[in-house]
Amino acid sequence: MRLILLGPPGAGKGTQAARLVEKYGIPHLSTGEMLRAAIAAETPIGLKAKDIMASGALVPDEVVVGIIADRIEQPDAAKGFILDGFPRTLPQAAALDELLKQKKTRLDAVIQLRVNEAMLLQRVENRIAQMMERGEEVRADDNVEALGKRLEVYRAQTEPLIHYYGDRRMLATVDGMKPIDEVTAEIARILQAAASAPPAKAKKPAKSVAKRPKTKAVVKPAKVAKTAKRPAEEMAKRAAKSRSVTKARAKAARKAARTRSRAAVAARKGAKKVVKKALKKMAKKRAKGRNRLTKRR
Ligand code: AMP
Repeated sequence: MRLILLGPPGAGKGTQAARLVEKYGIPHLSTGEMLRAAIAAETPIGLKAKDIMASGALVPDEVVVGIIADRIEQPDAAKGFILDGFPRTLPQAAALDELLKQKKTRLDAVIQLRVNEAMLLQRVENRIAQMMERGEEVRADDNVEALGKRLEVYRAQTEPLIHYYGDRRMLATVDGMKPIDEVTAEIARILQAAASAPPAKAKKPAKSVAKRPKTKAVVKPAKVAKTAKRPAEEMAKRAAKSRSVTKARAKAARKAARTRSRAAVAARKGAKKVVKKALKKMAKKRAKGRNRLTKRR
């Protein structure tokens, strides 16, 4: 089972991931946790990420893609994994596709935990207060200022992934405001359905949608009969208005789909480079490790 948990900070991804680890026996891969471990160990990646993370901004794509490329190669991830906090941008999503393609595997599901933002702030504030009460160390980015920035970044850079996976028919949405057990049960239902369903086919690209011949709106006879008492002129006006609203909406949807498609193509192009770079770095690191071992012997 290979899945992504998608949602803003505080949506409950970590809590649900911990339950899935128990149920499926696959690792929970949280880029945030890996980066925090790198900071604690003062590795070059940690030193690079420390200030960026404290501000609530995103660490560069190639850094996190490199971390994930390395991590999914580990034996414990062979049967699957739960991604939490990755991907967070379109280039990261495209890079993940590329990495999985190279491994001749694919994602089983992308689950979005949808939450109410106002309640979210409250939830995170409560979490911080509880941690402080227990005498636990609070994350450097768990404060109102950084949280605001993290939410802003989520809206701008991560939310487009909802369309990215939605267009590929891989996205399932769960109401993350429900009690934890209910969210867990809903996720279990989704994963059960995903396991028994054939691989999802992506929707036709936006281009073909844009080229579709225009069809004229047809007024259904039943509707005409229902409103027959209204003066004909008013009815014609209303029908014309509703047609133009429908047309404008369809046009806007086609435009949005074209923009998304262009962004996805650009992300895919960039992803190949990012993945190539990350894999090269990984190979270099491994060779260095081997050399060190051989020298020691
Ligand atoms: P998280 O623990 O998932 O909330 O992540 C904490 C912080 O780590 C984020 O605010 C980012 O600065 C950084 N981070 C984690 N995952 C990623 C990612 N996939 N891309 C970029 N930055 C990330």
